[in-house]
Amino acid sequence: MLSYRHGFHVGNAADVLKHSVLVFCLEYLLGKEKPLLCVDTHAGAGIYSLHEGFAAQKREWEKGVGKLRLEILHEGKAALKGPGSAALLRRYLELCSRDESGSGPAVYPGSPAIMARLLRPLDRLVCFELHPSDYAACKLALAGSGEVRQADGLTSLKSLLPPPSRRGLILIDPPYEVKEDYLRLPISVEQALRRFSSGTYIIWYPLLRESPAVDFPERLMNLYQGNRCRLELYTADPGAGAANSPRGMYGSGMVIYNPPWTLAPALEESLPIMGEAIGKGKNDWKLEHYQC
Ligand code: SAM
Repeated sequence: MLSYRHGFHVGNAADVLKHSVLVFCLEYLLGKEKPLLCVDTHAGAGIYSLHEGFAAQKREWEKGVGKLRLEILHEGKAALKGPGSAALLRRYLELCSRDESGSGPAVYPGSPAIMARLLRPLDRLVCFELHPSDYAACKLALAGSGEVRQADGLTSLKSLLPPPSRRGLILIDPPYEVKEDYLRLPISVEQALRRFSSGTYIIWYPLLRESPAVDFPERLMNLYQGNRCRLELYTADPGAGAANSPRGMYGSGMVIYNPPWTLAPALEESLPIMGEAIGKGKNDWKLEHYQC
């Protein structure tokens, strides 16, 4: 079953969280000369129009990247207070919310396009996407700046590991529309870690009122005993969930293995700003990190 289309949700609060952390981690890793492998196991369409097609129907981006952009860049209500939030949120907005028209951004880059924009010629990008239309769109969006394969990202990941340079960032961002995603993802991650335990793994998950796996984030945190962190941003009351979300999504989170050491301090500064601008409130977030 492939009914999920990311175009309906693009640029929402979950994308802001995921993509701002992705930009931060990637820029940190690109600080070294050695080649980097980037893998996007669930790529989506690559680039999205905000004013046409799916995104224009639900306009979720207006409460996500649109709102953050207005608050931070235009109105200055949630001024960036320190170097960490500037590095995390300002860089994200520079990359993902370019305003070429003067009336707000017209397109939004998904994770493959963000990676392609940042990577250098010596790096390698491999994206997986199963949906035929999104696969074709992603191929077009990357225009040769990365490989796009119409294959299962969870089963294919291990074949790319370890990268010859032993440096890699892996984004795992399934739609979680089927229960199997919760079962298959940890298996795939365990296999990947066995081959390449020093990679930076970014795993996104939704927070759902009717979750089929409430202990999923804890399970992910227990899969790896090295440096790791877990962060969550809440957008609604857990009991209620967002009014327009059929599964009662009340926020989203990420587990990251081997994050840059600079990430936790940057998040301490940025999560209150995100909470206030696009979440439930300034204090409605969570951050756990373990340095091992
Ligand atoms: N990572 C994208 C981004 O941030 O811009 C969004 C990805 S979206 C949440 C999930 C995508 O995974 C959908 O486009 C869906 O068609 C695709 N998909 C679902 N199961 C998959 C699988 N096993 N392997 C590869 N792609 C899959």
